[in-house]
Amino acid sequence: MEFLFALVTAICTAFAPAKVVDEIDVPIVMYHHLEEDESKLNEFMVTPEKFESDMGKIKELGYETVSYQELYDFVNHNGNLPEKPILVTFDDGYESNYTYAYPVLKRLNMKATIAVIGVMVGQDTYRGRQAYPHFTYEQAKEMYDSGLMDIQTHTFDLHDITRRVGVKMLAGEDEETYSKLVKEDISKAANEIKENVGNRQFVFTYPYGAYDDLTENIIRDLGFDITVTTDVGTNHIVRGDTESLLRLKRYDISNESDIEIVLTGRYKTIVNLRLLLTNSLILI
Ligand SMILES: [Zn+2]
Repeated sequence: MEFLFALVTAICTAFAPAKVVDEIDVPIVMYHHLEEDESKLNEFMVTPEKFESDMGKIKELGYETVSYQELYDFVNHNGNLPEKPILVTFDDGYESNYTYAYPVLKRLNMKATIAVIGVMVGQDTYRGRQAYPHFTYEQAKEMYDSGLMDIQTHTFDLHDITRRVGVKMLAGEDEETYSKLVKEDISKAANEIKENVGNRQFVFTYPYGAYDDLTENIIRDLGFDITVTTDVGTNHIVRGDTESLLRLKRYDISNESDIEIVLTGRYKTIVNLRLLLTNSLILI
């Protein structure tokens, strides 16, 4: 009898569902280019060694990397998330993500999402000026097919601050002209990724974190379920609340950032304006 009781208890424990929560905090860390040469670093770059050490620390702190799809499923389809979820993101689609970050993520079995600038895929110049090399669609597909990496939209050719700040509307601009321009650009970017990588495009990352209510509506109308900014903070994701997937906040990680301090909440808020001032075109 005692044995039977122990057996039943063991079976019940083994099959007990994981604790289901309806609300969860999710930090998102943001990287751009990985640079070997320390003399070239700016606040949007880390060395490959720093990136590897950050990923190790994320694991040590008990975080588990998840994809945007898992966040979407948690909110919309009763999906589950680990106890301490985190997203690792890269902006712009630098070749260094493929060369340095992807092998580390594969080895550690960690997930990440890259938001690519359509016009820059496979390119190392922009309008005749030198740019950091960006990975090709073949490389993007290889990363996506690993099951660890997602490739999402970061505009086709609106990642710029000379004409407007990213996709933000100009003062006094005609709404209809503006909507058409933004829709065409983002649709083109999303369609190209779909054609070349084959995955659903449902996450839009704002260049320079610049957005307003109208931009947000246009992007939702295009069918994007998740929008991502550079506002600083941790996200509170709520089951059934699709709004909790909008305007997601992130932590920019520089070579000097201590990821443990960032994730344990002892992080000094950075002024968002700094992004506009220093994320210069050299980084496109
Ligand atoms: Zn960007």
